[in-house]
Amino acid sequence: MGILHYIGLRDKHKGIFQSLVMSDAIERLRRASGSDFSMVISSLERSTDINSKKVFNEVESGTDEYEEGKEKLRLHKIRERDPQLIKEAKRRFKKKHGELFCEACGINFEKMYGERGKDFIEGHHKKPVSEMKEGETTKVEDIGMLCSNCHRMIHRIPMVSIEELKKSLGFSWKGFS
Ligand SMILES: [Zn+2]
Ligand SMILES: [Zn+2]
Repeated sequence: MGILHYIGLRDKHKGIFQSLVMSDAIERLRRASGSDFSMVISSLERSTDINSKKVFNEVESGTDEYEEGKEKLRLHKIRERDPQLIKEAKRRFKKKHGELFCEACGINFEKMYGERGKDFIEGHHKKPVSEMKEGETTKVEDIGMLCSNCHRMIHRIPMVSIEELKKSLGFSWKGFS
């Protein structure tokens, strides 16, 4: 992870920490005029090893990668917000399985919450964020069904697939009788 995105700086600052060790980078921020980096400095001191002798060499590629990742995550979320796509994915899922349930943990909102939970489920874009391209269209079969908990867990960085989340569940879902 590049230090630049960490402190919210952009391209024009690329290279300013090049080949500095953490303690020198912090010193440079401390002496920077014009902006107050005190919050950045204290969070760096809290979250990193300030005695680390590792130098900042990958600042540029790290920053680019981060920007690209952010863009892909944005596309992912835009696609998940397409109401027609999600509606059609839910309709097909219900037709195929006879009910809506979370593909990771198995919860069926209607069985859990009664009438209030009827037809509730969230659509998740299954295509790995790393493989997403701009302008590419999303197919109905790219949308998976998830409960709100599983959906948020899947979106924690680094994102995992539904199958991976399923494997990490600490219980096996038996469903309601
Ligand atoms: Zn779930
Ligand atoms: Zn999602």
